[in-house]
Amino acid sequence: MRHRSEAWRKIDGASFDVCVIGGGATGSGTALDAQLRGLRTVLIEAGDFASATSSRSTKLIHGGVRYLQEAVTDLDPGQYNVVKRALQERRFMLDNARFLAHPMEFLVPCYSRWDVFYYFVGVKIYDRIAGKHNFFPSRYRSAKDSLARWPLLQGSGLKGTIAYADGQFDDARYCVAVVQTFTQAGGEAVNHARVVRLEQDAGGKICAAEIEDQLNGAKTTVRARVFVNATGPYSDHIREMAKPGVQKRLRLSKGVHILLPLDERTTDAVVVPKTDDGRVIFAIPWLGRLLVGTTDDEVTHEEELVVKRSEVDYLLRQLNRYLSRPFAIEDIVAGFAGVRPLVSSGKPGKTKKLIREHEVEVDRESRLISVMGGKWTTYRAMAEDAVNAVQQQLGQPVGGCVTREHHLSGSEGYSADYPQSLVANYGLPDLTARHLSEKFGTNAGAVLDLAKQEPELAQPIVEGYPATRAEIAYSARNEMAATLDDVLERRTGLQFFSWKMARAAAPVAAAVMQKEMSWDAAHTQHEIDDYVGTISGWSAKAGVTKDGAKEQERRPERNSTSR
Ligand SMILES: Cc1cc2nc3c(=O)[nH]c(=O)nc-3n(C[C@H](O)[C@H](O)[C@H](O)COP(=O)(O)OP(=O)(O)OC[C@H]3O[C@@H](n4cnc5c(N)ncnc54)[C@H](O)[C@@H]3O)c2cc1C
Repeated sequence: MRHRSEAWRKIDGASFDVCVIGGGATGSGTALDAQLRGLRTVLIEAGDFASATSSRSTKLIHGGVRYLQEAVTDLDPGQYNVVKRALQERRFMLDNARFLAHPMEFLVPCYSRWDVFYYFVGVKIYDRIAGKHNFFPSRYRSAKDSLARWPLLQGSGLKGTIAYADGQFDDARYCVAVVQTFTQAGGEAVNHARVVRLEQDAGGKICAAEIEDQLNGAKTTVRARVFVNATGPYSDHIREMAKPGVQKRLRLSKGVHILLPLDERTTDAVVVPKTDDGRVIFAIPWLGRLLVGTTDDEVTHEEELVVKRSEVDYLLRQLNRYLSRPFAIEDIVAGFAGVRPLVSSGKPGKTKKLIREHEVEVDRESRLISVMGGKWTTYRAMAEDAVNAVQQQLGQPVGGCVTREHHLSGSEGYSADYPQSLVANYGLPDLTARHLSEKFGTNAGAVLDLAKQEPELAQPIVEGYPATRAEIAYSARNEMAATLDDVLERRTGLQFFSWKMARAAAPVAAAVMQKEMSWDAAHTQHEIDDYVGTISGWSAKAGVTKDGAKEQERRPERNSTSR
């Protein structure tokens, strides 16, 4: 990827075949697919890549056991089709970026013989639907075996667990890798650039988009033959821009996650199979933490996307019922909230019942193509369908999609022993080598070369987390990171690991960014104050006033077997 200032210059007043609006999973995937089919494509993102829903997921690459349950109990073929397609996509997602995604075992705790039978039959159907795409067959694990794998589990009355396979990934980094691959294929992308107006020709067809630089207020116009609206939760805004008064299609559902210290060495996830509101909750080892979520509550755009105290209480209550040692609010080290862009069925009812199917809509007059709904796991399939519609609009033969087997940037030459090669070649500690491999794949070498050339960049960002300052410089130069939030949340992942550490790291990260982005002293201080203020506000709203307090007492050793 280009440095952001250069990327802006490249799109300024330029013309393309396709303009994709929105740089989350759907838009990045669509841009990559279009470019690989030979269409000159530009990707415009209002915030940072993946800064909206696409970095707020449960990080599962899954068909969805809950959706399967609903397909069976509600005899719903729609739910079944979503599960089937997602299970196929699961395999492509994994194979295309092995450093960012991996199979994981999920344990469903059972406290009655009926539950053992019920969940066993369920996951066997799941295996069957996955067919040749399955990672490994599901199985019953005895109570003893289950407790050995997940010592935190409530052992009293445990009849065993049902273990099944799904995938896990780093959503924010996966999105950056898709955009990186897109630009390497010749596409142009720019972040922190918002489409503020669409221009239509005499026939009503969209021919240009006015774009505003969100960092300095500059404006430009980009022309294209086709426009794709991939703005997730904001899809109705762009549809409205193209056709004022158009009927809304989306319903928004908020979901929150909390992160807890993980001091048990475990590689498996636990599924809380029954919650108060009839859903499931996952407790998943993720980058050295236990990621717990999620909730599902319908919201409007006015809702502030923060984790609230009531949501924290809800998640802890559901999880603690299944644990021998309950977690308390003081254990929470970080959290995040996101909003699912669900396509409305047109009927009232709870959002948790809405099918996670996607839809590609082509507006007859404006020719705007909107790709809506879906889930991260099906981002590639959504993109394929959207680009098929693009080709139709351009009057081209439909076909030529190659993304099923197109490896993402960082995958070239990657293998399971890549972290060890970093240890051997660069003399890195295990933890740093693993962290770099998990974030950058084989691009880690370029990060390390930076640290070699500028030794001060080899320093950690903050004590207790393996990211170095070189990652920040690399992200600014090669991944279009342009704000503190970009680097501390999505590029290095520190903000997901610990709010407290992220606040402490802000001045150090800002000093690196100041150099990379030519910020003046006032701007640098403003970035630090703004960032620290935002994170403090989040922890206060979640009721986590002593975040990390308990971590001092029992700092987790970073889970060495989290992959
Ligand atoms: C709590 C939660 C848990 C989830 N868990 C999972 C999971 O485990 N597995 C799974 O497969 N899926 C999961 N999902 C679903 C998945 O995260 C989403 O389906 C997916 O990320 C949506 O991607 P998107 O690109 O459509 O939307 P977004 O990621 O929201 O991207 C849309 C982008 O458009 C940009 N934009 C908006 N307006 C403009 C404009 N005017 N100009 C330019 N850009 C604009 C926004 O800034 C944004 O970045 C979860 C979702 C939530 C909320």
